Amino acid sequence: MRSDSTGRTIVVTGGAGFIGSALVRSLVRDPACRVVVMDALTYAGNLESLHTVLRFPNCSFERIDITDAAAVRRCFATYSPEIVYHLAAESHVDRSIDSPAAFIHTNVVGTYILLDAALGTWKLRSDTERAACRFIHVSTDEVFGSLGEHGKFSETTPYAPRSPYSASKAGADHLARAWHHTFGLPVIVTNCSNNFGPYQFPEKFIPVVVRAALNGDVIPVYGRGANIRDWLYVDDHVEALRCVAERGRVGGTYAFGGGNERSNLDVVTEICSILDEMHPNPKGSYDQQISFVADRPGHDFRYAVDSSLAQRELGWKPAHTFEQGLRETVEWYLQNDQWSLDVMSGAYRGERLGLGGGV
Ligand code: NAD
Repeated sequence: MRSDSTGRTIVVTGGAGFIGSALVRSLVRDPACRVVVMDALTYAGNLESLHTVLRFPNCSFERIDITDAAAVRRCFATYSPEIVYHLAAESHVDRSIDSPAAFIHTNVVGTYILLDAALGTWKLRSDTERAACRFIHVSTDEVFGSLGEHGKFSETTPYAPRSPYSASKAGADHLARAWHHTFGLPVIVTNCSNNFGPYQFPEKFIPVVVRAALNGDVIPVYGRGANIRDWLYVDDHVEALRCVAERGRVGGTYAFGGGNERSNLDVVTEICSILDEMHPNPKGSYDQQISFVADRPGHDFRYAVDSSLAQRELGWKPAHTFEQGLRETVEWYLQNDQWSLDVMSGAYRGERLGLGGGV
């Protein structure tokens, strides 16, 4: 039993998405906490990612768009959550280049609506109850812009977002902090590096590579594959968020990274060699399918995160190595092809996104 969840009512926005569903699967294991998933089920949200837990008596699902103020307020009035983990977002950088409007609407306006609703219920509580409340705003390291060869992002790095996605997340982060400083809402902001693991939507980098390899398609690598990301296994991010709810400083910010800097080409090559071992192709290594394609416009070169504050204050550190997490991820995609087919039969059909021409 954990003190962050026991006896509490917790709302997880975006709980049918990749990270949100991993968080929900973890939280509901404590039967004494009530978990309410608030999700609009956009193309990226899938109840199939929650099929193992939705029947639990302590798990409820509310199909709500966070930009619908009346519905959000109703949900807060009904459940009166002590803890809100806010993960609902438009999250795919390439989509933000083609169609930024939804990113502004959900990530900025939706976050404002949630903060306002959370503040409304928080104000009605006693002082003791207020002290136990948290609004955990989950953001990305992409708000800090792009690094060169050296250095790392930390909680004190100035914001310099460069894509419509990261700019919309940055706007939301500023609102979340303002709701703490101006109104006293107990907000904590987290900025995390690239996640990977099971149940990630098939348009994201690692699932795209696995699927293309297995289908015998070209494995697309943007530019020369030199861009570097700091990969964090999704369950380690979930643990980080739980630590924040339990021990995080109200009004504080925590940056989380996996300490696993890899170039995109390194990641692709490693996936190919895991597949060569787990699912050999009689025609030879999967790395023969690698093909360099047009780069993403404004592609940030490098992200890396210094998580030492989180290690010191929260006692958090990642439990998975990159190699271990990647093996588990590839194995999961090999065993759960039907999940990928089912989620892709929705709006996403595998087209190349993010070459520009936003509307
Ligand atoms: P995802 O795209 O897999 O899931 C997003 C979820 O939000 C989906 O279930 C979707 O249905 C829901 N959603 C979208 N718009 C909504 C709306 N208007 N109302 C209600 N629900 C809506 O995203 P993810 O990768 O799980 O990311 C979750 C959060 O973590 C995001 O805020 C993202 O910015 C942040 N983050 C992600 C990463 C990463 O590598 N994936 C890294 C750092 C931070």
